[in-house]
Formats: sequence, structure tokens, C-alpha cells
Amino acid sequence: MTQVSFATHEVLNQSPPFEDVDLFALDRPLAEAVAANGGASAYKELSEFGQHWGSAAMAARGRVANENTPKLRTFDSRGVRRDEVEFHPAYHELMARSAHAGIHNSTWTALGKPAGGAAEVVRAAKFYMAAQVETGHLCPVTMTRASVAALAAQPDLLSKTMPVIATRAYDPTFAPWWTKRGMTLGMGMTEKQGGTDVRSNQTRASRDGDAYRITGHKWFMSAPMCDAFLVLAQADEGLTCFFMPRFKPDGSVNALQFQRLKDKLGNRSNASSEVEFADTYAERVGDEGKGIRTIIQMVQLTRQDCAIASAGLMRSGLAHALHHARHRSVFQKHL
Ligand SMILES: Cc1cc2nc3c(=O)[nH]c(=O)nc-3n(C[C@H](O)[C@H](O)[C@H](O)COP(=O)(O)OP(=O)(O)OC[C@H]3O[C@@H](n4cnc5c(N)ncnc54)[C@H](O)[C@@H]3O)c2cc1C
Repeated sequence: MTQVSFATHEVLNQSPPFEDVDLFALDRPLAEAVAANGGASAYKELSEFGQHWGSAAMAARGRVANENTPKLRTFDSRGVRRDEVEFHPAYHELMARSAHAGIHNSTWTALGKPAGGAAEVVRAAKFYMAAQVETGHLCPVTMTRASVAALAAQPDLLSKTMPVIATRAYDPTFAPWWTKRGMTLGMGMTEKQGGTDVRSNQTRASRDGDAYRITGHKWFMSAPMCDAFLVLAQADEGLTCFFMPRFKPDGSVNALQFQRLKDKLGNRSNASSEVEFADTYAERVGDEGKGIRTIIQMVQLTRQDCAIASAGLMRSGLAHALHHARHRSVFQKHL
């Protein structure tokens, strides 16, 4: 038999994968920033986090979660509404790891007060490193941690939800939030006629005893498998913030009717929905007419995380470029 030579397929001069690295130890500016903000005692915790998130296994989860995008299951096989989104196990794994590290809640005490100390900077460092691996799942993670700032406007609701928000468990089961080991929260503001200009919201809220019924739509509501959403709607006194759970207090499914998922250019592991509300159960958060003032507490914390994650993505681009330049030779010299 003729021996086949694979010499032309020998792979030379390619940089090795940038994997199995400690994303914290490699990043001196990050360590210095953490120290400058009082977080030096968290080095060991952050280095363990950096090694875990810098592993080849986590990189694979990030890739797989984006290749296998979420699927909306509007109805079951018999035509009954389901309104559930199915995610690849890799996405659930990323969510579980972030929850385990407390990225969704560690800046708050169990009562929903600011944790103080270095909690903000330590959590920000984790968010920054996780963003270098997979940003889509960080959407419900940032929204959950930020929701506490808005829920503070309704102390009775905060004290009910905080025991479930404050755990480090990720519980993806589709069940009433008060029965779960952990919960996630999202937000619904943007409508077709206005995202920046939320005062133009047309969705209406009418009183129903102590609660409200919401009718209208949201044009961009991400992470639709969250257990509850903070939603803006027009009540008698003006734009108001509401807590809209996936299940009503009697345990039946609440009317959040997902129309479709966005076909996004990026952020693909994360589902972003278009949703209709039809007499949907909700509880008021803060005073009627103070909706923007209430929800902006949540929005601004998510936007802070947008900046942190964007910096993380830039850091990742730089680290990959340096790594490649160190290993790649051109004209007998390293790049
Ligand atoms: C990945 C992703 C996830 C999202 N998830 C959610 C979600 O979970 N919940 C939710 O409610 N929304 C969500 N959104 C929607 C997002 O919040 C809106 O897209 C955003 O608020 C902008 O609104 P818009 O798209 O209607 O743009 P517009 O309000 O029409 O703005 C268009 C452009 O005009 C600029 N602009 C606006 N006002 C001014 C001004 N006064 N002066 C100068 N320039 C101005 C804006 O910066 C923008 O560049 C998401 C969007 C994305 C991309």
C-alpha cells in the first residue's frame, strides 16, 4: 500500500488557544483597581474565579451557548399556550456558575440593603471577567442584581422577594417564584414607538383590588424566562412601575404572551422577546406616576454593567491580540 504523507497538513506557526489562563492574575490593572477600591483581601477568591472562567471548559460553554440559540415554544403540541423559551444546557451552566459566584446579588445584604465594604468592586471584577467569556447570560444576571434597587421603592415586596433573590442557587424550573430556590428578574420598558422616550409608553394599567391588570405590549423584553419583570405602564396617575410575575398568586400562569424572539446580530445566547400583555396580573412598585423615577434605579445599575462588560470585551480583544502576537512569527521574528 502507498504511504500517504500528511506533511503539507502539519500545522505550524499558529498561536495556541488562549485558554486555561487565570483571567485575574494575568490582569495587573484589574488587580490594582480592585486593591485601590478596598478589595485586596478578595484576591484569592478573584483568582479562583479567574482560573475557573479562564478555563477551556468555560470557553466551550460560551461558544456552544451562542451557537445553539434559545427557542421560543409559544404553544404545546395541543395548541395550549406555553410561552416558554428553551435554552441549551451550556447557557444554564453559565447561569449556574454566575449565580454561584453571587454576580446577581452579592452587592446586597439578605434584607436588600447595600452590602458595603468591597462588595461592589469584587462583584464588578467578576462581572468584568465573566464578560470576557460570555456576555449573553449576563443580561438576566445584571438585571436581577439591579432589580433590588427599584424594589426598594416597595419595601413589602422587597422583603417578600429578597429571600429568593439572595440565594446563590440558579433554579431554571418554570414555577412560581416563591416556590423556587433562586430567581431572576428582568425589565420591560421599551415599546415599538419609543425606547429612549419611555414616557410615550401606551401600555395601560387598571386597578384590580390591591393589584393591577396590565394590557399592552413590550417591543424588547430580554431574558423572558425570568421569574418576574419590572414593567412600565400608564396608570391613572401616570407612568408607573409594576412587578409582573410569570405566575399569578393562585399559582396559575400569568398572561405574558411572547410573540417572537429577536434575531439579533450579537448577544445571541440571550433571548430577547416581543411580548403582549392581556389583563396581565401585576403589583405596583413605588407610587403611581413615579414609574421612571422608580425603574431608573434598576436601569442605571444595568447600564453600569454595560460599561463594565464592554471594558471586559475590550480587555479580551487586547489579551487575545497580545497572545497571538507573542506566538506568531513573521519573517523569522515574533509579531
Ligand atoms: C440586546 C438588547 C437587549 C435589550 N433588552 C431590553 C429589555 O430587556 N428591556 C427593555 O425595556 N428594553 C430592552 N432593549 C431595548 C433598549 O433599551 C432600547 O433599544 C433603547 O432604550 C433605545 O431605544 P430605541 O431602540 O427605541 O431607540 P430610539 O429611542 O429610537 O433612539 C435611536 C437613536 O437616537 C438616539 N437618541 C435618542 N434620544 C436622543 C436625544 N434626545 N438626543 C440625541 N440622540 C438621541 C439614541 O441614542 C439612539 O442612537 C434592549 C436592546 C438591546 C439591543
